[in-house]
Amino acid sequence: MEEQTFSRPFHHPRPGAPLSCDGVSLESLARKFGTPLYVYSARQIADRLRMFQKSFASREHLVCYAVKANSALAILKLLAGLGAGFDIVSGGELERVLAAAPEAVGRVVFSGVGKTAAEIDRALKAGILQFNVESEAELALLDLRAKKLKKKARFALRVNPDVFADTHPYISTGLREHKFGIDIRRALTIYKDAADSRWLEAHGVSVHIGSQIRSAAPFGAAIGRVSKLVQQLKREGITLKAVDAGGGLGIDYHGGSFDAMEKACEYAEALQNALGDFDGRLLIEPGRFIVAQAGALLARVLYVKRNGKKTFVIADAAMNDLIRPALYQAHHEIVPVRPRAGKARIVDVVGPVCESGDFFARDRKLMRVEPEDLVALLDAGAYGMAQSSNYNSRPRPAEVLVEGTKARLIRRRETMADLLAPEMV
Ligand SMILES: *Cc1c(COP(=O)(O)O)cnc(C)c1O
Repeated sequence: MEEQTFSRPFHHPRPGAPLSCDGVSLESLARKFGTPLYVYSARQIADRLRMFQKSFASREHLVCYAVKANSALAILKLLAGLGAGFDIVSGGELERVLAAAPEAVGRVVFSGVGKTAAEIDRALKAGILQFNVESEAELALLDLRAKKLKKKARFALRVNPDVFADTHPYISTGLREHKFGIDIRRALTIYKDAADSRWLEAHGVSVHIGSQIRSAAPFGAAIGRVSKLVQQLKREGITLKAVDAGGGLGIDYHGGSFDAMEKACEYAEALQNALGDFDGRLLIEPGRFIVAQAGALLARVLYVKRNGKKTFVIADAAMNDLIRPALYQAHHEIVPVRPRAGKARIVDVVGPVCESGDFFARDRKLMRVEPEDLVALLDAGAYGMAQSSNYNSRPRPAEVLVEGTKARLIRRRETMADLLAPEMV
């Protein structure tokens, strides 16, 4: 078990002792804050950001954390304090950055295929670093809004490099048939046309080929194509200041001997090689790699029941709290907080929601657990709380950030009053 937690902040400090986050007992957190509960390690979030900052130290760069992975204000503030910028995909995420770290707004890049005029206006007024533009129609709207507000808009075309990344089809984005980006073969013409506008500044070029990509090669391939475009543009008299390589570097949800620093270095090397002699700024937009393994979802076992040949462990957390297994067939390690003696069993770990898709694990070998026991779903820091919902009228979990030896509530548990507030009978 120890080696499974190698790249995670969650450990049993001594044999038989309850699972802890950086030494803070998860039993004590469950007693104090209740379950289901998201628990994050501030130390690991900071460490992961620094891994990127170190791997790219030899060139001008900016790590723009992808807010959609986990948009907790306390986490945004922590990252901004360490020099991170942000990749946002909505006006709502911009408001989060402004609430948590207004001083970082000049380090924000704005991605997304469906920006509205109101979102563009707000971002122009706030003075973000760059709009990652995903269509010609969007560029035309950006030009219009910039002219109206008399604010110059720095843009990057998000190009589609037509690179295949081996990941789940729902999170693969770099092929021509995906809705994202602009065909890289059209980009040159669009940049040339944009040069006529006094309100548009061709600031960079961006690419994002997908998520949970485990190998560095596709990133290198995508940046290789982008570099060719950068050189072509230069010959045409358009010198870009930034190449934005997007996010997408994956983690190992199965544990094992995953070495995050080694991965970050491999990734950095692939990008550096593909960038050639580009001497502008490199932007990257990692989300999952920074926060996934820093977080766990802590749940309490309600019932253990047998139906036919199957044993079901029914937890108080459900797909509304963590939808990744249901949505992407994702794997999350499940660890009993206080190990019991006895044989492991093959079980399904499920939640109370009325859907057969409401499961965390199927036919999983799990150490014996009994009602009232706590279990931790590991690697839940990214796309966990961020994708949670109130389905089945379930209030969302609370969130706790472990900082050193202390744990701090960063989002209180929702109440039924919160859920009912916007409605009228
Ligand atoms: C989702 C997304 C990211 C972050 O992806 P991760 O896999 O979490 O690193 C970065 N950039 C864009 C444009 C995205 O849509």
